[in-house]
Amino acid sequence: MLKLKDISKSYVNGGFVQKALDGVSLNFRESEFVAVLGPSGSGKTTFLNVIGGLDKHDSGDLIINGKSTSKFRDPDWDAYRNNSIGFIFQSYNLITHLSNLENVEIGMTLSGVSISARKSKAAEVLKRVGLEDHMHKKPNQLSGGQMQRVAIARALANDPDIILADEPTGNLDSHTSDQIMDLIKEISKDKLVIMVTHNVELANKYADRVVNFFDGRVVDDTNPFADKALSAGYLIKRTSMSFMTALKMSGRNIATKKWRTAITAFAASIGIIGIALILSLSNGFDKQIQAFEAGTLSGFPITITQTVMETDINQTAQRRLRSLASRVDNNEYPDQTYLTPYNPRENRRVHINVFTDDYIEYIEGIDERLLSGFSYTRRVNMNILRSDGDRAENVNTSAIRFSPYPSRIDSNTPGYLETAYDLLAGSYPSGLQDLVLVVDSYNRVGISILDALGFDAGVESIGFDDILGYELKLILNDTYYVLAGDVYVINGNPSNLISMYESDEAITLRITGVIRAKQETLMPIISPGIAYRDELSLLFIEDAKNSEIVMAQTEADYNILTGQSFPVTTGPSRSSATGSAKDIMLERLGAEHTPYMISLYPKDFESKDKVLDYLEAWNEGKEAEDIVIYTDMAQTFVDLSGNIMGGITMVLIAFAAISLVVSLIMIGIITYISVLERTREIGVLRALGARKKDITRVFNAETFIVGSCSGLLGIIIAQLLVFPINFVLKRLTDLSDVAQLNVLHALMLVALSVTLTMLGGLIPSKMAAKKDPVAALRAE
Ligand code: ADP
Repeated sequence: MLKLKDISKSYVNGGFVQKALDGVSLNFRESEFVAVLGPSGSGKTTFLNVIGGLDKHDSGDLIINGKSTSKFRDPDWDAYRNNSIGFIFQSYNLITHLSNLENVEIGMTLSGVSISARKSKAAEVLKRVGLEDHMHKKPNQLSGGQMQRVAIARALANDPDIILADEPTGNLDSHTSDQIMDLIKEISKDKLVIMVTHNVELANKYADRVVNFFDGRVVDDTNPFADKALSAGYLIKRTSMSFMTALKMSGRNIATKKWRTAITAFAASIGIIGIALILSLSNGFDKQIQAFEAGTLSGFPITITQTVMETDINQTAQRRLRSLASRVDNNEYPDQTYLTPYNPRENRRVHINVFTDDYIEYIEGIDERLLSGFSYTRRVNMNILRSDGDRAENVNTSAIRFSPYPSRIDSNTPGYLETAYDLLAGSYPSGLQDLVLVVDSYNRVGISILDALGFDAGVESIGFDDILGYELKLILNDTYYVLAGDVYVINGNPSNLISMYESDEAITLRITGVIRAKQETLMPIISPGIAYRDELSLLFIEDAKNSEIVMAQTEADYNILTGQSFPVTTGPSRSSATGSAKDIMLERLGAEHTPYMISLYPKDFESKDKVLDYLEAWNEGKEAEDIVIYTDMAQTFVDLSGNIMGGITMVLIAFAAISLVVSLIMIGIITYISVLERTREIGVLRALGARKKDITRVFNAETFIVGSCSGLLGIIIAQLLVFPINFVLKRLTDLSDVAQLNVLHALMLVALSVTLTMLGGLIPSKMAAKKDPVAALRAE
């Protein structure tokens, strides 16, 4: 049944060739007990390993059941070992972290025998070797003789044709040796048993046939077998280990070194903890920022000005502008070999929004429910007078920072002033003639403002009561200006305008309230000074458009107030906004109702998006020069904070990733140590027919377990750390529940941990698979 034809095998040691087997030809019967004797170094073990398919011969042929093995490839040899061979070693080679029963089962597991079948078969063979009471013990709870019995049971379990025993009694006392020899003798009744031994006595006592080796050659054979052709019906069943089996084996192995695994998993989890915490913090901060945006930032207006610096244009708009303006290549550092003429006056860094009447109408057609207010800023210079009772004089509107506040859209919902400003005295302005004094966060008002209003700014403090009810008068153009020759002058004695102040035409404006920006208002848009309702300027302009002075100025090409001619304009002139000095003059006189700037105050963040959509819709299909670009201050702010958060998160993750890489290397080392420790086990598994792949699988299973443990541990620790972190943050920043670990992130991190640890263990597990089974079995 087994036939060796002229088998030779040499080892090369440092250039010196050692012939371990030198043309060995032997035939074996289907069942016989063959003892192989010979001095040490004569090639006995090599002979056994070649028969067992653990070692490859250099030349000659090994024929099993009439089938030559010369065409065998690795999987065939693995299957051959599993199906046809049972090994018994001098040092038993049991896997210590598995029970005796499981040790016996492995070979069957590899050949895919079902759980119940292999359990009963393993129990049966253990019973046969007399160990039915010790099945569930671990090997190290047994005596040497008992361990060798387990090994014999393992060799028998898969019903092999050939049992190979290498000094099976070498480590046993003579009494136990006899028992083991009896057992082997009995097995040889229906199997071929080949046993290598030094013990001539035992060989002669038990063996049917003794073969003597010397210098790699058979020098004596007591019972040779004639060469007869045998049936060629050899069929082998391929082996493989399922990942579950590998997982179970590695799990058992890991269970024997719990502390090491725990510490490894913990160390490896530090990177995961770091990343989990960073993610949960940035997560939480993002949410905080969003809440903050929705609250405070919604107070920021969307502004549309007639001139926009490109740097103020948001990136989407910039991109669109550039694509529209692609008539000229705007590539920097081009390769081209020509130059491009350009007109510096057509400065592309400034975009001019043309506020056509259509556009203003469009803006006013916006769904009012989206806004808490909107305001127009005009460059009109209103004629304002103040009086101390006897005398009246001009008020410099820029000195008192006379500016419009956003008008309220409907009286039911609070307008911008109500949302962003606290009322300190009086009432929020409501009528067209109501003015409001805005103080800064220290309740301060600049002395120039007070001076211009005629208050004594030298005092320590001014009571709000003194301010409430303070009156100014708005004088319309035709009352204010009078023609004097070619120019217009103020109608009256400039140092005392009391008669104009007291005329019926004068419109009384009254300070009805003192307001201050709320603490949480991030960027109050009305600066300290006097604020008027936006419609007031419209009222003034509607009158001014038809006023004498505006008519005259429209006709004249010189300044109607000074009589001097206007300076020649340079630069782009597409609208009055950037227009000539004359245009500006007209605007100041109130000839232009088109605002210089439009500010829209969205009610909340959601409505803001709708407002923006509405504004975008206007630009649909328009030429570059006709589009209107808005500035979304809040978005700029959000982008900025978002970018900063994103940046910080990336940097922190990069740092944490370093610790992940460190743990990757560490896992590699730990796995490598495990490979070293389990070298014997690798040898045993290979001898039992495990493929290289299966060995890799065992160690991958191990790193899989470690990786899952460290991932889960990392997530649990991170989740536990979230509580103290949130506690400290609450103390420091008054923000609650900042750190929040996202479930998706947690899952991803566990997956990352598993992937990385498996990656770290990949090289060592490949190394394990490459181990020569013979060398592995010899390892201590
Ligand atoms: P025995 O089992 O009879 O003691 P072996 O089969 O172990 O003999 O060894 C036969 C010869 O081959 C010896 O000279 C030994 O040194 C050599 N040999 C065995 N295995 C190796 C090996 N892996 N590398 C190099 N030489 C080896």
